[in-house]
Amino acid sequence: MDEKLLKLRTVGELKKAGYRTAPVRDEMRKNLLARLREKTRILPGIIGYDDTVVPEIENGVLAGHHMIFLGERGQAKSRIIRALVLLLDEFVPALKGCEINDDPFAPICRTCRKAVADKGDAAEIAWIGRDHRYAEKLATPDVSVADLIGEIDPIKVAEGRYLADEETIHYGLIPRINRGIFAINELPDLTEKVQVGLFNLMEEKDVQIKGYKIRLPVDVVFIASANPEDYTSRGRIITPLKDRFDVQIRTHYPKKLEDEIAIMDQEAAEVSRGGTAVRVPQFLKDIIAQVTFEARASNEINQSSGVSVRVTINNLESVVSNAEKRAIRNGENEIVPRISDLHSMYASTAGKLELEYVGEDKKEEDLIERLVNRAVLKVFDKYLKLDDLKKVIAYFEGGWGVEVSDSSPASDYMEPLREVAGLREAIAILGPFETPGLMASASEFIFEGLHLHQKLNKERQGGGRLAYHA
Ligand SMILES: [Zn+2]
Repeated sequence: MDEKLLKLRTVGELKKAGYRTAPVRDEMRKNLLARLREKTRILPGIIGYDDTVVPEIENGVLAGHHMIFLGERGQAKSRIIRALVLLLDEFVPALKGCEINDDPFAPICRTCRKAVADKGDAAEIAWIGRDHRYAEKLATPDVSVADLIGEIDPIKVAEGRYLADEETIHYGLIPRINRGIFAINELPDLTEKVQVGLFNLMEEKDVQIKGYKIRLPVDVVFIASANPEDYTSRGRIITPLKDRFDVQIRTHYPKKLEDEIAIMDQEAAEVSRGGTAVRVPQFLKDIIAQVTFEARASNEINQSSGVSVRVTINNLESVVSNAEKRAIRNGENEIVPRISDLHSMYASTAGKLELEYVGEDKKEEDLIERLVNRAVLKVFDKYLKLDDLKKVIAYFEGGWGVEVSDSSPASDYMEPLREVAGLREAIAILGPFETPGLMASASEFIFEGLHLHQKLNKERQGGGRLAYHA
């Protein structure tokens, strides 16, 4: 953006500088083409969509389409929509004081038309930042035409004022971001009346408010999102509105575990841990992401509402917090989550899953435990073979056992590390785990893997205490 432009203050100066205004879709298209030429990413921070969703968005923007994103919860739909705002110019000029960002060269509202007629080139302009040209609304049944489009005062109309006069019309959200992007989330939850209003605004540029027909030729790119099942179910969306969305873009959950982990790492709240190092072993990240993958594949969970990436993110946060308490209580200088911390994920998982009816005796907690077990087993098999652990198994078969707990300091694990033959070598296969916390975490992972392979028995002794023996 040319900084000199921002100094221009009147319509005349704008003209003299050769500035041209453009419809929003042309502006987005121009900026997308520039990014494509520079080979820069259009959606920073959006992971796992490079080969699926991103190319479709690019086509949608180049074609100037209104887009609808269909996907289950937690598929970054809102994030994508917000990132599209970056395809707007940083600043555009509008007539100063206009409620609906009127184009200095083609004003719609009465006040601006009058100002331009009276003052000509001396009419003042203001520069509007892109954040002020974007609005989003979560559709609910109580969103009204007045909220989105506007409201008129019939008494003032009766007094003879013009309909498009600011004194008779109170603009809603959409006219106020004229020359910008409007996003509506969960589109099918809008009432039919509001859907009709939205359609009229998109298609005819005429809207009926309280029986008055108002011409409102706003220039807005509409983007919507919906759950696929709601969107396709009969009667939830009026057909003409559905037709008005030119492209449907299907979002999805990460297809690869690495993508799920990359999103988790990017999004997990960066809580300051008071200078204490947080070290999450890779196998533990794999387990947390794999639990979500298992949940998405489970027929005991309602998959039409989905299992959000937020499950993964919140589970990491829970597990790290549980480990943090241990570090604080034991005065340790590193925070390393372990298997015995995984029970803290139950609370952050439970509320986000919608269970299919599974009968009275099947509890949510049991289901989560099964998902966790499956995940640990899969990740264990990715890193270790039972053959690598022959010595460890032999140790337990000799009648020995170990107890671990989510409250024990890492130093408690130094004794088993010395005693259990082959344990150190096995840990070395997992990675260069040199600190006490990392070694404690790796030890628990190995014990749990052996238990899930039915080589060791495990007893839960309340809370996070676990005992393993042959
Ligand atoms: Zn205006």
